[in-house]
Amino acid sequence: MEKRTKFVLDEEEIPGQWYNIQADLPRPLLPPLHPVTKQPLTPDDLAPLFPMELIKQEVSTERWIDIPEEVRDIYKLWRPTTLFRAHRLEKALYTPAKIFYKYEGSSPPGSHKPNTAVASAYYNKKEGINRIATETGAGQWGSALSFAGACFGVKIKVYMVAISYKQKPYRRIMMETWGAECVSSPSKDTKVGRDMLAKDPDCPGSLGLAISEAVEDAMSRDDTHYSLGSVLNHVLLHQTVNGLEAKKLMEKADAYPDIIVGCVGGGSNFAGLFLPFVKDKIDGTKPDLRIINVEPTAAPTMTRGPYAYDYGDTAKLAPIIKMYTLGHDFIPAPIHAGGLRYHGMAPIICHLADLGLVEATAVHQIPTFEAGVTFARTEGIISAPETNHCIRVAIDEALKCKESGEAKTILIAHSGHGHVDMAAYDAYLSGKLVDYEYPKEKIEEALSKLPKV
Ligand SMILES: *Cc1c(COP(=O)(O)O)cnc(C)c1O
Repeated sequence: MEKRTKFVLDEEEIPGQWYNIQADLPRPLLPPLHPVTKQPLTPDDLAPLFPMELIKQEVSTERWIDIPEEVRDIYKLWRPTTLFRAHRLEKALYTPAKIFYKYEGSSPPGSHKPNTAVASAYYNKKEGINRIATETGAGQWGSALSFAGACFGVKIKVYMVAISYKQKPYRRIMMETWGAECVSSPSKDTKVGRDMLAKDPDCPGSLGLAISEAVEDAMSRDDTHYSLGSVLNHVLLHQTVNGLEAKKLMEKADAYPDIIVGCVGGGSNFAGLFLPFVKDKIDGTKPDLRIINVEPTAAPTMTRGPYAYDYGDTAKLAPIIKMYTLGHDFIPAPIHAGGLRYHGMAPIICHLADLGLVEATAVHQIPTFEAGVTFARTEGIISAPETNHCIRVAIDEALKCKESGEAKTILIAHSGHGHVDMAAYDAYLSGKLVDYEYPKEKIEEALSKLPKV
């Protein structure tokens, strides 16, 4: 057979429905709790923040949920995305492994994030909401929601973690180009932000803090909702459009993965890819499939955090959820993979890890860039620093195959390109990067601050 490099679907083959793992979980998820009463959250508690359709999706146990035609129409701007066979990387590694990657970097903002941003802007608009507040770390989510806001005429206000606001001006300019307003967090625009600035005028910010600002903004205005780009069940649901495409495409390639790897910040891109595959593990048809969540050693949520109820944000305004956590006041080391610095993890992924259906590993920053450079010099694509984390693990697994002589099939969830992260590559190439290990004392300290539920 001719050696194929790209596997593609037609536009009409964009899935018509998202896949909801909640229909197939062996045990149901534990409910999120109200941050003040600590009782299970009700739809009314969430109504000031989210449109009703998303609140329903958050708790739905229906297996298939229709993708609205208006959302699918916008997906057509870049979906279906391509599955690549990494022949050139395989050759460079002298590995018998077959490496595939599903590439989400071809969306307008350059990552998987618009898969859910577009749905979020759509449901808000449909329910009469014309302004959304949100936070962003590295700027990927902020730019994705700004793009989605432009698609539906919804105003977007972005609280961007201060250190990234300084380091990554291009993402802010992208947001502004799509018509959004972006401020550095902590900002003077909220009480949470002003209090923090009074304590520490040079506060570098954190995702947890920026979430608090965006939630406060949304709670204090009737015309405004809040949107979260990862972690929540409905976000992972929207991302399954990618995994459903990947499953069809792997069939076209006449292959099924032995190992799936992805990087996890809040877990949305990776879950979006692997959820349709994890179903085969739950069914028992693919018991040996390995699903590896890759995180930075500087934010080792799944590999070193306790599995406990914790607040989703620093100011304790967001719900308390059962997850692996580094503590809600976690302030990460300034690694370049800004999208992987959240203190918690999607409850669905944590639950699947607890059930033994997925595993996790952590990697240092410098080896991730080394892998990213190898990938760029073989496959051409310059990957986001986040994505480099799982490319590292894919390469390591492929090298193990070289040792053992096994021809395993490895599928990489390729979450986006790194064109706006060239300063990080510059730091790597000029030998200025350092590795960070999260200190043990900090994990113990975080444990002592968990809410008592
Ligand atoms: C945001 C981001 C991530 C991490 O977020 P998840 O919700 O864990 O997917 C990973 N890769 C890229 C390119 C991102 O923009």
